[in-house]
Formats: sequence, C-alpha cells, structure tokens
Amino acid sequence: MSEDPYKVLGVGRDATDAEIKRVYRKLARQYHPDRNPGDKAAEERFKSIQSSYDAIGTKDARRKYDESKRMEDFFNSNPNQRNTRFSGFDIPDIFSQMFGGPQNNSQRVNRRQQRDAYRGSDITSGIDMDYSDADTGCKIEFDHRRLRTCAKCEGSSFGSTRSCMLCDGRGVISRTSTIIVKIPPKSKHGQKIRMRGLGHDHPKGESGDLILTIRVDAKEGRRWEDGRLIQSVKIPYSTLMLGGKCNIRTPSGDSVRIDVKAGTQIGDRRRIPKMSYGGADLDIEFALEDSTNLTESQKDVLERLRKEGL
Ligand SMILES: [Zn+2]
Repeated sequence: MSEDPYKVLGVGRDATDAEIKRVYRKLARQYHPDRNPGDKAAEERFKSIQSSYDAIGTKDARRKYDESKRMEDFFNSNPNQRNTRFSGFDIPDIFSQMFGGPQNNSQRVNRRQQRDAYRGSDITSGIDMDYSDADTGCKIEFDHRRLRTCAKCEGSSFGSTRSCMLCDGRGVISRTSTIIVKIPPKSKHGQKIRMRGLGHDHPKGESGDLILTIRVDAKEGRRWEDGRLIQSVKIPYSTLMLGGKCNIRTPSGDSVRIDVKAGTQIGDRRRIPKMSYGGADLDIEFALEDSTNLTESQKDVLERLRKEGL
C-alpha cells in the first residue's frame, strides 16, 4: 500500500473508527462502478478507496497500519543516514530489527512472547588503543550513542495512536553517554568485545548488544590486513634494482637489518618471523623511497639510464 489511506478517505489521523466507516460508505457509493459506467478514473478511485478501507477500516488493521507507518516516518525522517554509519548508530539496521518484529498475526500473543520476539539492534563499532594497552589490559572511555527507551512514555507510545511530546511516538530517544570499556589483558587486534544490553533499546522488547572490535594502532607506515601487520619499507631505486641491505624499525622498537634481493619489485612482501606485536610474524612490503629534490649528479645518472632504456 503506497497511498496514505487517511488521505485517500480524507479523514484525520485522529478520526474515530465510526467516522472512517461513515466516510468510506459515502465515498464508495459515490465512486461505485455501477454509478459511473465506463469512467476509468472513478473506477481507479473506487479501488483505492476500497484498499484504504482495508488498511484502516477495522481496529486491528488500523493499529497495524499505524505502527508500521510510525516506523516508516521515523525512517524517512533520517534520509541522510540511510546508508551511513553515524557514531555507531546504524539506521537501516534498527529498522530491519523494528520492522522485522514478530511475524505473528495473532492478537493474543502474550507479553512474554512479545518481549522475546522484539529486540533492539546491536551496535558495532571499533575501539582504538596502543599495543601496550591491549597487551596489559586497560580501561578506555567510549562515547556511545544509542536509542534509549523514552523516559516519559516508557516506550508505550510506540505503535499506538497516543502521542508523546518527548519521543514523538517512537518510544525511543537517541542519547549519548560515555561508558568505560574494560579491555582484558592479551587482547589482540580484531578481537571483539560484546557488552550485553548496551545496544539500542527496543520500546517493546529487550535491548541489543554493543559489539566493539579492538583496533590496535599500527603506527605510521604500518597497517592491518586480515589480522596481520604489514610494514611498508621504503627502498632507494638502485637497491631495488641491484639488491643490497636496509635497516627497519620493528613494532617493538628493535632495529633489524634485512637483505634486499636484486630485482625486488615495489609491493613485494617478505615475512620476518617474530618481529611483530606479541612475537607474531611481521610482513614487510617494499616501497620506493621518495626522491624529490634530486641533485645535479643524480639527474645526470638518471639521464644516462634513460638513454640506456631503463
Ligand atoms: Zn515517549
């Protein structure tokens, strides 16, 4: 149903059920095909009046329609956040959860079942730290934004026709708080910490979880790839071509001298055992050393190389 049934029938959202019925009967008579033979427009109007009445003509149907409409309005009120993560606040995710509620047509679902069926969405985010903090364990402040159950209506306005000034009928309100996250010792990059109940609240069910992924600062010139640490090593062009040696500084601060084979290409990798964080292997990736501000004699040599076809 894409048309707004209230608009089609020309009634307000606060109209009584009896009023809706009365207006429907009047319009249905007016646009009935029997009274408008051959009138295509009247026939279309009649169809949409009919489906609008199906949507809001009975108490149950109307309640269901109003609930999904509230959620849709909520969704549409955040059009710029549809596909983006915003401080760990994932709009589509919330809606898949809220819309995805119980597939239960029975009105007689008890509250317990309802609470089990509805659940606020989980929040996933990253939490950054140095290797030493991850290794020894630490406490980190985390600014956390999530949907909390409305303090005024306690979520009761969600899906109901009663309005709430505070949450505007959403039953939940976005709030930011600072929480302290305890990082256990020997934590590794990519490890996840699940904090139960610290995801989004659901006005009718239990709260989701907060799932934090530990990100260990790789420091300049390094990056994580599938849980492995890659360290970029800049080598002069001549060393790449002719081979030689170079010094690298490992994540633990040691200086290590490594061989560079003749004909090494930019992007080639080498695994150095036990030189990464916590005694893990370190992958180094060769890169070309920046060579701006060439001296006159370097330019001469390069000109000669060009003449040689290199
Ligand atoms: Zn409220």
